Amino acid sequence: MSDKRTRIETLAVHGGEPRPGPNGSVVAPVFQSTVFEAGPGEAAPYIRLGTNPTQAHLHCRLAALEGAEAAVAAASGMGAITAALHSVLGTGAHLIAAGEFYGGTSRFLDEHAARLGWSWDLVAPSDPDAWQRALRPNTRALLTESITNPLVQVGDLAGAASFAREHGLVSIIDNTLATPVVFQPHAVGFDLVCHSATKALNGHSDITAGAVTGSRERIDRVASVLGSYGASLDPHAAFLLSRGLKTLALRVRRQNDNAQAVAELLAGHDAVAAVRYPGLPDHPDHGRAAALFDGFGSVVTFLPYGGAAAADTIVKGLRLPYAAPSLGGVESLVTRLSMPNAAHGMAGEAIRFSAGIEAPDDLVEDFAQALALFSGT
Ligand code: PLP
Repeated sequence: MSDKRTRIETLAVHGGEPRPGPNGSVVAPVFQSTVFEAGPGEAAPYIRLGTNPTQAHLHCRLAALEGAEAAVAAASGMGAITAALHSVLGTGAHLIAAGEFYGGTSRFLDEHAARLGWSWDLVAPSDPDAWQRALRPNTRALLTESITNPLVQVGDLAGAASFAREHGLVSIIDNTLATPVVFQPHAVGFDLVCHSATKALNGHSDITAGAVTGSRERIDRVASVLGSYGASLDPHAAFLLSRGLKTLALRVRRQNDNAQAVAELLAGHDAVAAVRYPGLPDHPDHGRAAALFDGFGSVVTFLPYGGAAAADTIVKGLRLPYAAPSLGGVESLVTRLSMPNAAHGMAGEAIRFSAGIEAPDDLVEDFAQALALFSGT
């Protein structure tokens, strides 16, 4: 999707950077100080409140990348999502959860929503009639994900944002799998955009962090929740995340290319029963993703023939991807998943591939040799 704002490659390097930097520095320094002197009547910056200068600098960078007025960083992706929900849902409120949902988000809703006095309905991300049926007088927010995990579904995202606006709901989206390189949710009307920055935003698998972007007013409320619960991001991690963001666009574009190349190999391979990647023309949401996105993301999920034995052999046989449960880093990862839901034609013993930034041909050759170990092709 093209837009008139500065291109994402340039924003990743320059967005939110003060010019000139402190003392003329090109890289904003890390202020590893919990507190700062302040004059009479002035609020002293304080780490737990997210007002330390390194945290404030990161907030400007994140806001610029998502095209938002403001941003706040959290200690993790779950810190970001739960703070966003807390900032809009009070006791007695109802939430429409339109998606498949990352396990941590589902677990939070299953284990804590009722205790907090919230009710919620899980509905399909691409079915406006289901959102309408779920609507109640006390519905306050709609939560969705730009690309779901592991089925990599792409819901009716623009429709969800308009539906929320029409019914006075706050629209919240987890944009972790797409990243602002692939999709900018504020441009289609989402109010709050959440990230696990542990994944692609940082991209180097070495910090845990989260982010929420939105209007100044909404972000002040999210920041107040983070400050009260003590879930702000430490300045050293904030510094590393700011550094990681510089290469976001390059990394994500290479990851998308690698995911596409591996998905195409898998789709044509006779050891593979099913492949899900929004960049494949037979993915049910391919058309929607092509219209809305610039790229199709870094995650591919596939089912080899031969059940658990085949899936385990392939994972063990891969030389490049690590067998580790995350995504969005520079190194490719694979994760074994047991998929119970037959509804999407993906029930069985699956492998989720999270593309790194290696050379595409090396990954394709590696998958070809690992698939041959089981299929004998
Ligand atoms: N959202 C999505 C889509 C994720 O995949 C994850 C983690 O895997 C999270 C949120 C939670 O992120 P974190 O581990 O940083 O709390």
